[in-house]
Amino acid sequence: MKYALDARVGIVGAGAAGLSAAETLRDRGYTSITILERSERAGGKCHSIQFEGRSYELGAGVISDSSRFVRGLAKKYDVPTKLVDFSARMCVDSETGKPMKRSASEMRQLGAQVLRYYRLSRKYQTLLEPGFANVAPELSVPFANFAKTHRIELLAEEFAKYFTGFGYGFFDEVPAAYVLKYYPWDVVFAYFKQTFFKFPEGIQGLWEAIAKSHQVVYGANIQTIERGEAITVTTEKAAFTFDALIIASPLDEALRYLDASEEERALFRKIRHYDYRTYGCMVKGFPKMTGYVPGNLNSTRLGRPVFWYQRYEDSDLYTFYTFGDWKMSDEDTLRHIRHTVEQLGGVLETLHVAERWKYFPHVSPDDMQDGYFDKLEAMQGENHTYYAGELLNFSTVAHTASYAKKLVERFF
Ligand SMILES: Cc1cc2nc3c(=O)[nH]c(=O)nc-3n(C[C@H](O)[C@H](O)[C@H](O)COP(=O)(O)OP(=O)(O)OC[C@H]3O[C@@H](n4cnc5c(N)ncnc54)[C@H](O)[C@@H]3O)c2cc1C
Repeated sequence: MKYALDARVGIVGAGAAGLSAAETLRDRGYTSITILERSERAGGKCHSIQFEGRSYELGAGVISDSSRFVRGLAKKYDVPTKLVDFSARMCVDSETGKPMKRSASEMRQLGAQVLRYYRLSRKYQTLLEPGFANVAPELSVPFANFAKTHRIELLAEEFAKYFTGFGYGFFDEVPAAYVLKYYPWDVVFAYFKQTFFKFPEGIQGLWEAIAKSHQVVYGANIQTIERGEAITVTTEKAAFTFDALIIASPLDEALRYLDASEEERALFRKIRHYDYRTYGCMVKGFPKMTGYVPGNLNSTRLGRPVFWYQRYEDSDLYTFYTFGDWKMSDEDTLRHIRHTVEQLGGVLETLHVAERWKYFPHVSPDDMQDGYFDKLEAMQGENHTYYAGELLNFSTVAHTASYAKKLVERFF
């Protein structure tokens, strides 16, 4: 163990990563853990709201049954989970608004491609480990190229529904390693078995329950972090001294207040994001189901809905998801959503809530090829500083949580 159990450990960010790190530290016997959270709530991108007495998700909503650590936390904190009902789903043609179905011959081809993918996922099993260290160089290419090489293009179209549709970018831009990381064989299998779980009371409640049992300073607006013998963090209201620091908030933004080294500056500046948005709309006369719009899953269709989610069959509040270009107005996006709603015979009555996300921190194919993650991992622990959060593994609750847990097990 590198630190004494009474070492003062600071954590920046009370999202899934920061709270998983805190939980693991405490389980290992650490007694002085302080979490500095900028906002007034825990959970970060796990953001649940209440409407007419029920929960709705603006950010994360679903985890797979392989998310053992997170499901274990839910059990420990007595936060209920429930199997997702997959029965009411549709795919819609972006031009006509008509439902789409695969032909029998496509289904046969898909079967063969799933088998090919099974072999590929066995080959790249190191991706099951948290992180991207030592990722195979051939996985740096954009996933579209990888899919072509391995003749799994139809499967890639299926993958895009839940990858691009869920905000993780476009296959001609994103390195294959991310897609294989998101789709290990057990997750592909979970799609067949339909074993995904939601949080009936809202996933934010899980992180709030965990946060309540830790020392979290909310509204902590960090001004400076200076690292010497000890680490001094100043916020607008107070100063904190730590022996070790875990940054579980966006690393590119940390450059504003961190006494960053040249290497930190160089690596953090390379992080890319997508402008992904959630629009909660009241819609009448719309299909009582969740839907995907495959024709909108590319970068020429920004602003159009890629996916919508109906959480309750008897509710008119649907959440629609779109990509933007950082400049596009909500009015423009709503115009596109309204068009899709009307194609399907519905009426968009009001916008109830909207949230924009600087989403899916990732690196380009070239940077991945250039050993980005090996360099970042080699810096873990320098100046008693550790990095956690979405960038380090992948942008799901389970990936961020399991990376944070492993980080603490490695270094504390
Ligand atoms: C629309 C949407 C849908 C999603 N759906 C799913 C899903 O169904 N399943 C799934 O597994 N994942 C899903 N995700 C992804 C998942 O929510 C995230 O990957 C995960 O919650 C990230 O956790 P994190 O702790 O790394 O980061 P975050 O959740 O971003 O937490 C970072 C925390 O740091 C705080 N912070 C930031 N800057 C500072 C600062 N300077 N000082 C102090 N605190 C700071 C933030 O306020 C935040 O609380 C979804 C995300 C979005 C946006």
